[in-house]
Amino acid sequence: MNTDILVSIKNLSRFYGSLCAVNDISFEVTRGQILGFLGPNGAGKTTTMQIIAGTLSPTIGEISVAGYDLMDYPLKAKAEIGYLPEQPPLYKEMIVEDFLQFCAKLHHISRSKIKSHVDRVIEQCNLQKVTKRLINNLSKGYQQRVGIAQAVIHRPAVIILDEPTIGLDPIQVREIRNLIRNLSEEHSVIISTHILQEVQAICSHVQIINYGQLIFKDTIGNLFSQMQLTRLNLACHRPDADMQILTQIEGIEKVEQQDEHHFHIQYTINKNPAEAIVAKSVSENWGLYELIPENRSLEQIFVELTNEQFKPIKKIGD
Ligand code: ATP
Repeated sequence: MNTDILVSIKNLSRFYGSLCAVNDISFEVTRGQILGFLGPNGAGKTTTMQIIAGTLSPTIGEISVAGYDLMDYPLKAKAEIGYLPEQPPLYKEMIVEDFLQFCAKLHHISRSKIKSHVDRVIEQCNLQKVTKRLINNLSKGYQQRVGIAQAVIHRPAVIILDEPTIGLDPIQVREIRNLIRNLSEEHSVIISTHILQEVQAICSHVQIINYGQLIFKDTIGNLFSQMQLTRLNLACHRPDADMQILTQIEGIEKVEQQDEHHFHIQYTINKNPAEAIVAKSVSENWGLYELIPENRSLEQIFVELTNEQFKPIKKIGD
């Protein structure tokens, strides 16, 4: 068995009556990954996460966590999962420290170790200033930190965070993302979100679900290479009268002039001419001051993929 595979999902489906919310999906999460689980509202993210967390049963499929089959060894599998649902499971009338002690007990952490576990998550989640405060009186950002603290109190191998930054202000969003990045040094993380920038900002891997089907899964690096187009925008202080001379450079297919100083260059795939353009500009003294690759936005890719909803799983490189 590969001990680096912490979550393994095989042919998972979930029906609600006749509605197929999750349709035959398979994927793995390995040690050290931050997996962004991306999809529009109603795509099946929460359903999938609830199933991995063991709070909802699948209709069909196999799930194993840290090598334990969730059906055969539910306690061992669940001990390796920390879960923060979309609505953080907080007893708001408790003070932070008491609540975390209570969560430690729920996870059967032995009495002698409770203090060290609680102290550790307070430090990890930067809760030192609010340990004696009533949870109800905390800001939404701090309440979310307490929610994350309860998810990691038992030091699970994998944490599942359902829309962890929803409803937070931009500063709180940044803080929670930093916290998730720090936690990923010790835990693999699965984050569901419909915020594309979130995936871009923190995830190492991404998978997109739409109408219950996985339509894309790969590394964030490969997603970025999908974003790259074969176009460059060039700007010079002193361009030649006839910049079509650029088409003599290998790889350049077309040059379009935008205005006196700006040009649009189309090139052949895998033949990026940037270096040759810079060299030519220097030798001809054009005064090059901009050479910018044009990218498709993550939004464009997302819309393109989710519009092709009924096509089979797409994977770059296949
Ligand atoms: P959101 O981002 O809006 O939370 P999601 O991607 O998490 O969406 P799910 O909550 O998993 O999606 O829902 C998937 C589909 O299953 C939706 O069509 C939803 O209406 C339906 N669904 C979810 N829970 C139930 C339920 N308990 N009973 C019936 N249908 C449900």
